Amino acid sequence: MGKIHLLEQSTINKIAAGEVVERPASIVKELVENSIDAGAADIAVEIREGGTSLIRVTDNGEGIPSGEVPSAFLRHATSKISRIEDLEEALSLGFRGEALASIAAVSILEIITKTPEALTGVRYGLEGGAERFREEIGCPAGTTLLVGDLFFNVPARKKFLKSPATEASYVSDAVTRLALAHPGVGFKFINNGQTRFQTPGNGKLQDAVFAVFGKDTASKLLPVRGEKEGMRITGFVGKPETARGNRSYEYYHVNGRSVRSKVVQRALEDAFKTKLPLHKYPFSVFQLELDPGRVDVNVHPTKMEVRFKDDHAVYTLVHQSVSTALLGASLTPELSAPT
Ligand code: ADP
Ligand code: MG
Repeated sequence: MGKIHLLEQSTINKIAAGEVVERPASIVKELVENSIDAGAADIAVEIREGGTSLIRVTDNGEGIPSGEVPSAFLRHATSKISRIEDLEEALSLGFRGEALASIAAVSILEIITKTPEALTGVRYGLEGGAERFREEIGCPAGTTLLVGDLFFNVPARKKFLKSPATEASYVSDAVTRLALAHPGVGFKFINNGQTRFQTPGNGKLQDAVFAVFGKDTASKLLPVRGEKEGMRITGFVGKPETARGNRSYEYYHVNGRSVRSKVVQRALEDAFKTKLPLHKYPFSVFQLELDPGRVDVNVHPTKMEVRFKDDHAVYTLVHQSVSTALLGASLTPELSAPT
């Protein structure tokens, strides 16, 4: 054999998996996004030991037809797009067809799935991407994915994981983001057998905030609403007294996707500038809706960072709408008790 040779498929898969599967939280995000794309009304996420020993995501979505289950684990296999042009219009959260293949490559995985029409479902098991078993099974319509022993075959990656408590907090944050981005879906998050939060899935963002952050935060929200050039913003910012010591409570979503964006962050923080002391950051949770053609979500494999076609319009819409919300709050000053 010469010096240059093609890598084995299993090696290629493990390397490629690194792009999508960084840690348990990234797996949870991919699995929950699949559940949302499948039209699930309820999604339960359960983890043990920070997700390193077990991740279980259960949904009541459309399921996978039994004959297509193995295909779902092939790299670049997807039911969501067919041509590159479809990306422009894609409203689904997934489209790369990489998540299941990547997760399967670095874990011991089991899927149980049934479409509503089918009489029986399928239970299908993989180890490091290789099929272990496939059988018919009686189960409710929907899909359950169980991911065990993450990185059992990639020790270098396993070592890089933080403590179970830290990994669990990343997972909790991921589920929180998804739950806030999709108030119409009921989310349940269970960590080491304990239910951490459960959102009602009634479509009311304020109720989702209440379920995740509690009454105090939910009762100090200011509605944010605005429209500009076909873009829309809806949601809430917290009153200045709900500000936090870091940016992790700046939640915002673009077309149903929890994202990061320097432009949105700057517009939000600039609007709060005179209201907050240095190193305090607002609590926010809002949605931006715009024509999918005006935002590029295909920037990064984990699709966290978005790029807008028109940064200036986005900045103006967010800044103006948040400023207006804050102005409304300062017009109704709190009365101090008479002395
Ligand atoms: P993508 O989401 O980019 O299509 P994935 O690897 O995440 O790629 O999933 C591959 C395919 O498996 C999806 O396109 C979908 O058809 C199917 N699938 C995955 N998860 C679910 C689920 N929870 N319910 C129904 N179908 C699913
Ligand atoms: Mg997916």
